[in-house]
Amino acid sequence: GSLPNAERVAALMQQAHDQFASLDDGAVADYIPSLGTADPALFGLAIVGVHGDARAVGDADHLFSIQSISKAFVFALVCEALGHEQVWRAIGVNNTGLPFNSVMALELNGGRPMNPMVNAGALATTALAPGETAVSRWAFIRDGLSAFAGRELEIDTVVYESEAAANHRNQAIARLLQSYGHLPGDPIEVTDIYTMQCSLLVSARDLAVMAATLADGGVNPVTGRRVVGEEVCADTLAVMATTGLYEMSGEWLFEVGMPGKSGVSGGIITIAPGKGGLATYSPRLDAAGNSVRGQSATRFLSKALGLNLFASR
Ligand code: GLU
Repeated sequence: GSLPNAERVAALMQQAHDQFASLDDGAVADYIPSLGTADPALFGLAIVGVHGDARAVGDADHLFSIQSISKAFVFALVCEALGHEQVWRAIGVNNTGLPFNSVMALELNGGRPMNPMVNAGALATTALAPGETAVSRWAFIRDGLSAFAGRELEIDTVVYESEAAANHRNQAIARLLQSYGHLPGDPIEVTDIYTMQCSLLVSARDLAVMAATLADGGVNPVTGRRVVGEEVCADTLAVMATTGLYEMSGEWLFEVGMPGKSGVSGGIITIAPGKGGLATYSPRLDAAGNSVRGQSATRFLSKALGLNLFASR
């Protein structure tokens, strides 16, 4: 299968944008102080197919920090470097059923992270990035995420500094992981690299290219460059399907029928394997931390474009 023809995709994206732009439920995240300054009116959609064909509507070029969506791509890069078995054993792949920054989830699981899409597992994943020094580990992550996007990604220093000054909870989670022997390296340094990865600036259009790379078995369909292997993509999509939308991942799969990953700055990516990647951006979030308009637009487009993976045709 492939995506419907370009005109139909464009018309449905416009319809999704127009229909859901009026939703103003939810609130912009402000526990990272600088995120609270985002304009709640922003709303952008982008779709990139596995042949590199791109479509965008609304504020699809607005740059925002990638936040939790980085977790999916860092996981893919670490899987590529270390392999399926080691990552499975070290990080886990089950949903916690608890908020993304839960300390209790870690305690209830005997100090082991449960999956790479919530903070404990994401910190443990970042800790596994190969490299002799913090600088080379950071370069591995930044270069890898840039290869997914097909352009050199840069840090939003305001967001980075704002989160770095307020991330005591993530530092505590990293230290707790260390105390259980599940975090190699220095927990404060790992938290700092994690905070940098979350601060990388992307647009919905960039995220759609990154998502399309996962849909395309690891080859960036715009640059033609292989970023990770096919098996790594399958592993990453499986984890996203079970844990990508925080504790609402079950409802997401039920409504959308595709793996996705959201972040607290308001982005959501969704992957139609073998077809393409969809990205939405709108900063107002529901209580679980998922973009309100993004969820509605994605649900609509999944149905309208016939993308549900569980549909028999
Ligand atoms: N950097 C954010 C944090 O660790 C990411 C959270 C998210 O997007 O879920 O709190």
